[in-house]
Amino acid sequence: MTTLPPFEHTRVEDIASTVKTVRASFLAHKTRPLEFRLVQLRKLYWGLKDNENLVLEACKKDLGKPAFETYLTELSWCMNDIVFMSNNLARFAKDEVAEDIPFTNKLLGPRIVKDPLGTVLIIGAYNFPIQLSLGPLIGAIAAGCTAVLKPSESSPHAAAVLQKIIAQSLDPSCYTCIQGAVPETTALLDQKWDKIFYTGSAGVGTIIAKKAAETLTPVTLELGGRNPAIITKNADPRLAARRLLWAKTMNAGQVCVSQNFTMVDKEMLQPFLKECKVALQEFYPQGARQSPDYGRIVNLRQFQRLKKMVDDSNGKIVLGGTMDEADLFIEPTFVLVDSVQDSMIKDESFGPLLPILAIENLDEAIAIANEVHDTPLGLYPFGTKAEMEKVLSQTRSGGASFNDGFFHASIPTLAFGGVGSSGSGAYRGKASFDCFTHRRSVTRTPTWLEGMLDVRYPPYTLAKQKK
Ligand code: NAD
Repeated sequence: MTTLPPFEHTRVEDIASTVKTVRASFLAHKTRPLEFRLVQLRKLYWGLKDNENLVLEACKKDLGKPAFETYLTELSWCMNDIVFMSNNLARFAKDEVAEDIPFTNKLLGPRIVKDPLGTVLIIGAYNFPIQLSLGPLIGAIAAGCTAVLKPSESSPHAAAVLQKIIAQSLDPSCYTCIQGAVPETTALLDQKWDKIFYTGSAGVGTIIAKKAAETLTPVTLELGGRNPAIITKNADPRLAARRLLWAKTMNAGQVCVSQNFTMVDKEMLQPFLKECKVALQEFYPQGARQSPDYGRIVNLRQFQRLKKMVDDSNGKIVLGGTMDEADLFIEPTFVLVDSVQDSMIKDESFGPLLPILAIENLDEAIAIANEVHDTPLGLYPFGTKAEMEKVLSQTRSGGASFNDGFFHASIPTLAFGGVGSSGSGAYRGKASFDCFTHRRSVTRTPTWLEGMLDVRYPPYTLAKQKK
């Protein structure tokens, strides 16, 4: 039996001095040597490995996460990320010979040096509490930054385990964890940062971006999205049902890239709904509630928000619908709505709710997708290759999966990020290193070139102008 560490808010009055220590370590060049970064990454790997059981238990407590999901999306995800980053760090960090340089300027030896940005703040979200905190931290360590992590207080058990792992594994003068909610995050935002990496809702993202703008601090924003799925009349209804149900039941639908609404060609509606019922029965033969493979809503506030969404909808429940406040249980619930104005489409559900809208044809679906959110985080067309390419060419989104729900986001080394109001900047794989790196352009003018270069000095004589 493991004992979870307690979650305790950091004292607001201690925050400034903590950040000062971490900044001082950067300014003392402690994190510059690659060997230092590699050692930290290795220690973080073993910190995770040694605390696997605590991570599993914490995610179970916070989100009812099945161990298999925690293993796949949190533990092994982060450990693989560390291995990938460690194996490739020397290559990523190496100076690059600058490209597309005019012949005469090549004498200056132009190159790109990979400089760490400095001291960074990472603010995590609750739904994948380990991955969404450690993913950016791995990038920051690899890039040679020092970092402060503020995990989400909404998954307090995971936040406490993260703090334990970081304190146990990493150099405390370079990397540390601050725990808390709005007051603590506000105090953090009052400090000087060289970058802020934020994952969470667009509303709070706006607060972060405004605050950062006051000091011209760069931000990466990983925000939410009202992601559409589109099922054309040529799609395979069983395939679409199974894959979209998976995307709505993993982590009980608390996934930023999960489809927020599904548009189904009217000819395909009944076959799709029939297959959804079959798929639900196949996924959870004993019912989702009894299944060890289905999670829970993170807290009462989110439960009530989701319940209200269904209550406010004018749609008809066509699948699921059972809820239990005491257990924070919401059955996968599909609702047939008749308007794009329905509350379930207008807002991000971020839970196991799926509004379904019948459409006349693909052109209508594309028009609605662009109307609901012109730059969602993800987009999921099902149909022929030509239909899916058409959707891609007439819409924008952070990423897209053809014939699937958010599967593009399951590739750990594929750059991940939003566009427009679903976010800016990207990370994962090499993009995580780049995210915390400044590409510094450097030249060295040879001393012997002076004879040729004196043309630039005044006085600009006629003789010089003729040269
Ligand atoms: P949230 O915005 O409520 O909280 C995220 C973080 O912001 C937390 O650490 C929280 O303490 C902090 N915070 C909250 N209010 C704040 C304030 N007023 N000032 C400063 N900091 C504040 O988000 P959440 O509920 O944890 O996550 C859900 C949202 O995040 C959804 O919109 C989802 O789509 C999005 N999300 C996006 C991604 C992505 O990678 N793009 C991943 C996960 C979640």
